[in-house]
Amino acid sequence: CGIVGYVGSRPSQDILLSGLARLEYRGYDSAGIAVIDGDGDLGMRKKAGKLAVLRDDLDAHPLAAGTTGIGHTRWATHGGPTDVNAHPHLADDDKLALIHNGIIENFAALRAELEAEGVTFRSETDTEVAAALLGREYRRTGDLEGAFRAVVNRLEGAFTLLAMHEDHPGVVVGARRNSPLVIGLGKGENFLGSDVAAFVEHTRNALAIGQDQMVTITPDAVTVTDFEGNAVEAEPFEVSWDA
Ligand code: GLU
Repeated sequence: CGIVGYVGSRPSQDILLSGLARLEYRGYDSAGIAVIDGDGDLGMRKKAGKLAVLRDDLDAHPLAAGTTGIGHTRWATHGGPTDVNAHPHLADDDKLALIHNGIIENFAALRAELEAEGVTFRSETDTEVAAALLGREYRRTGDLEGAFRAVVNRLEGAFTLLAMHEDHPGVVVGARRNSPLVIGLGKGENFLGSDVAAFVEHTRNALAIGQDQMVTITPDAVTVTDFEGNAVEAEPFEVSWDA
C-alpha cells in the first residue's frame, strides 16, 4: 500500500520508517523493511500490525545498518495479514528482497510454473511470485536490471515494485503499471516512493515515472526506461505543498 526506497550515504532504516509513517494515512495492516548493510548482507524484518510493532521489534533486535533499503506497508489482498505474508519477500537464497503495491492478476499461473520447477513458497501472496521470478531470472544472467525487466513483462494487473540484491549494494530498481511510483532526487542520495510523502522531508525535487516504465536509482544516478529497455526522459516536478 505504501512504498519507499533509499540509496545514499545515510543509514536507511530511519529514512524508511519515517517515510512509511508519512504514508500511514493510506491505511495498512503490516509493515516491513529490508536493508543491505556495509558488508553487503541483506537484512529484513516484517511484522503484522502497526508500524510501532515493527519499530519495537527492530529496537529489540536491530538490523545491521546499511545505506540501501526498501520499506513497505501492506494492505492485504492475497493472503491474510500475517508476518509471513507481509513484505518484503525474499528470493535467490534470501539475497534479493522485493516489495509490491497492487495485485498481480496472473500470479496463480506463474506460481504453478515456478512450483513445477521446484520453487517453494513461504507466503500466500501474489507478490512472492514476482520475487521468485526475479530470483530465477537473476540467477540465469547476473543482470539485475535485465532480470527485473523480464519479470515486469510477465506480470499482469497493477503493480508498483521495488527490488534490490546483495550483489548490487547501492542499487534499487523499481517499476510501475496501473499503480503510482515517483522518484525523489537528493544530493548523493535518491529516493523512490509510492507518493511524494515518502521522501518530502528530504527533497522537493521529483521525477514522474510514466505508465509501464522502470527505474534504477544509485546514490548519484537515476535511469528511467520503458519495459522494452528504451531510455525515457522523466518529467521533473517540484513538490510544492507543505510536508
Ligand atoms: N497484493 C499484495 C498483497 O496482498 C500487495 C498488497 C498491497 O498493495 O499492499 O500482499
